[in-house]
Amino acid sequence: MNESNFRGHCYCGSIQFETVGEPISTCYCHCESCRRHTASVVTTFAGFHVDQVKFTHAQPASHISEDGVIRRFCGECGSPISCQMKRAQDQGEIYLYLGIFDKPEKLRPQFHVNYHESIPRLNIDDDLLRDEGLARFD
Ligand SMILES: [Zn+2]
Ligand SMILES: [Zn+2]
Repeated sequence: MNESNFRGHCYCGSIQFETVGEPISTCYCHCESCRRHTASVVTTFAGFHVDQVKFTHAQPASHISEDGVIRRFCGECGSPISCQMKRAQDQGEIYLYLGIFDKPEKLRPQFHVNYHESIPRLNIDDDLLRDEGLARFD
């Protein structure tokens, strides 16, 4: 079986991960919460089932928001690592930020979520679905 494996790491290398198999989905998120967590005007995720993802060195630190969203980050350098919305937690899924993959170009975003929160005048020139909510989570 020819399964895809991906690797990645945080800025300092303390957090390293491997994934096995294809992601559930890959998407851009424009929500304000992701914007603040990543300090980036738009972020991109690749979602996997938790058993597809292995942290091979240190474990990430985490912050749980009032609405129960778990955001992980490197405790050494602060790189954002992942986001787990409540529904993703319930479904055993974890969404890794695409920017920490070694070869992010191998993972192609399929749609945009929370597009109504996007920064005005930010223009991403593609013809992907722009969802006001969380696309497949609705
Ligand atoms: Zn780090
Ligand atoms: Zn978001």
